[in-house]
Amino acid sequence: MRAKKDNTDCKFIFITGGVMSGLGKGVITASVAKLLQLCGYNVSCVKIDPYINYDAGTMNPTAHGEVFVTEDGGECDMDLGTYERFLDISISKEHNITTGRIYSDVIQAERGGKYLGQCVQIIPHITDTIKERLREVSRENNLDVLVVECGGTVGDIESLPFLEALRQLELEVGDSNTLVIHVTLAPVLDVVGEQKTKPTQHSVQELRRIGIQPDILAVRCSTPLTSEVRHKISLFASVPEQNVISCHDAPSIYNVPEMLQEQHIVNAIGTKILLKRRKPHLSYWKSVTRGFYNQNGTVEIAIVGKYVSLPDSYVSVYHALSHSAAQIRKKLQVEWIESERFEQTDKLHNIEYLSKFDGIVVPGGFGRRGSEGIIRTADYARIRNIPYLGICFGFQLALVAFARNACGIKEANSAEVESKVRDPIVEFMPEQRDNLKLGGSMRLGSHQVVIRANTMAKKIYLTNTISGRHRHRYELNQRYLEILEKGGLVLSGFSDGGKRTEILELPKHKFYFATQYHSEFSSRLGKPERSFLAFVESASSRA
Ligand code: GLN
Repeated sequence: MRAKKDNTDCKFIFITGGVMSGLGKGVITASVAKLLQLCGYNVSCVKIDPYINYDAGTMNPTAHGEVFVTEDGGECDMDLGTYERFLDISISKEHNITTGRIYSDVIQAERGGKYLGQCVQIIPHITDTIKERLREVSRENNLDVLVVECGGTVGDIESLPFLEALRQLELEVGDSNTLVIHVTLAPVLDVVGEQKTKPTQHSVQELRRIGIQPDILAVRCSTPLTSEVRHKISLFASVPEQNVISCHDAPSIYNVPEMLQEQHIVNAIGTKILLKRRKPHLSYWKSVTRGFYNQNGTVEIAIVGKYVSLPDSYVSVYHALSHSAAQIRKKLQVEWIESERFEQTDKLHNIEYLSKFDGIVVPGGFGRRGSEGIIRTADYARIRNIPYLGICFGFQLALVAFARNACGIKEANSAEVESKVRDPIVEFMPEQRDNLKLGGSMRLGSHQVVIRANTMAKKIYLTNTISGRHRHRYELNQRYLEILEKGGLVLSGFSDGGKRTEILELPKHKFYFATQYHSEFSSRLGKPERSFLAFVESASSRA
C-alpha cells in the first residue's frame, strides 16, 4: 500500500512543560488552539502521555484524574476533554499518544518483519513512529494547525523520546512550520513577595540542552507578570519580551484564551509560523464566558462519589455542571462528598447532611467500596424530593435503591458489588462474561439511545434518538424491568435494539433522572448537555 500524501501545509505547535506538573498546560494548549480556530483555521490537539500504559483506562482516577471517553471508544487522558470542550469538536482516540502505544506499534512492526536485519532503537524507530502518528493526525483531519501537548516536565526520562521527535520534526518540516511554547512558573515566595524567575531560567536551559529553543514562554503566576520580570525572563531565555506571556489566575479556565490574546499571542505565533489570519473572532466566546460573572444567586450541588479526594477524577462532571450554571447565570457551588461516609452510623455522618443541597449528582464508579453509601444517597434524594442526576454507577445503584425500597426486593444489588446476589438488578453484560482482559474491554464509546415518547427524557432532549458515550461492564437486568415499572419507575431510553436500558426517571419527582451513558462528556460551554441543564435548572428553582 502506498503511503498517503503528507499534509504539507500543516503547522505544528508544541506545548512543553517546565518546572513542575499541574500548571495547566492542557488549558493553555486548548486556549491556543481555540484562538487559532477563532481566526478561521482548522485546528486540533494531540496529547502525548509519556507513561507506559497503553491508554488511561487502567489508571487510578484519584492519581491521574478522569478517564475521558471519546466517541470512538478511547479511554483517554482527561486533557482530551478540555480540548473538546474548548474547540467544540469530537476528537478521536488517535489524538492521545502514549509511550505504551508507540512501543506496542514498533514491537508489532518488528514481529511483522518491518525492520528485518536492523537493530530496532529509540532513534530512529521510536521517534519515527511518534512523528508518523502526528503526521497521520494532521493528514486524517486535513488540519491547518496541530497543537501537540507533551505531558510531563522537561527533564523527565520518560518524555525524552517525544521531545527528541519534536526536535526532529522541526528539522524536517522547517522552522516556519513549527513553534514551541514552553509553560513555566514564576512563584512568589511569601517572605520575599516578588515573582521569581530562576525556575523558568533553569527549565529553559534544560529544554535547550536537548536542542529545543522555545519561541514563546507561557509563565504561570498568581498575579500578572511585572514588566521587570518579563524583561529578565526574556533576556535569560532568549525569547523576545512580547513573547513572554503572563498566565495569571483567571476567574475560569474559559477566560484564558482572552487573557492570552490581550497579550497578542496570535501575532507572536503568526509571526513565527507565517499565519496570515491573526484576528480571532472572540465575541461569541466572550459572551458565553460572561455567564461566569453577572450571576444571580447560587446553586449548591453535592457530588457523592468514590473518587472525590481528587476533584479531577470527575472533571467532566464538574464542567457539565458549570456550563449549565453559567447558562442560567447561577454561581455554581460544588461539595465533593465521599459516599462511604453515609455507611457509618455515627450522627455526624448522617445522610441528613444532604438536605442542605439544591441537587445531588452521583457520577461513575467501580467496585464495592462506597456502594451502600451511594444506594442510600439515591434513596434519600428520591424520598426527600431533591433533584438527582445519576451517571453510569449512579444510574445502576439508583436502580438497586428503587428495587429495594420502592419494590420490596430487599436483597437487590448489583452483581458487581455482590457476586452471589439473590436479585441481581444490575448484572454483567452477557458479552463481558468471557472477557478476561481488563484493558480496553468494556462497552465503550458512542451508542445510539432511542428515547420513549411522552417521557421526561423526550422533553429534555426534544428528539427520538441521541448518542451517548459509554464505559461499563454491567447493565440493568431486564428481567426486573416490569416490576420496576410497576413500582413507578419509568425506563425511557434503550439501545442495541431495546436490549439495553439507558435512562431511568421518576415522573412525580421534582427531578430524578439517571443515565447508563456518560452525559458529562458531551457538554460544551454555551451548549450544556441537556440533562445536566435540566437538572441544574430544577435544582435552582424553588418550586
Ligand atoms: N462499574 C459499573 C460498570 O462497569 C459502572 C461504570 C461507570 O460508572 N463508568 O458497569
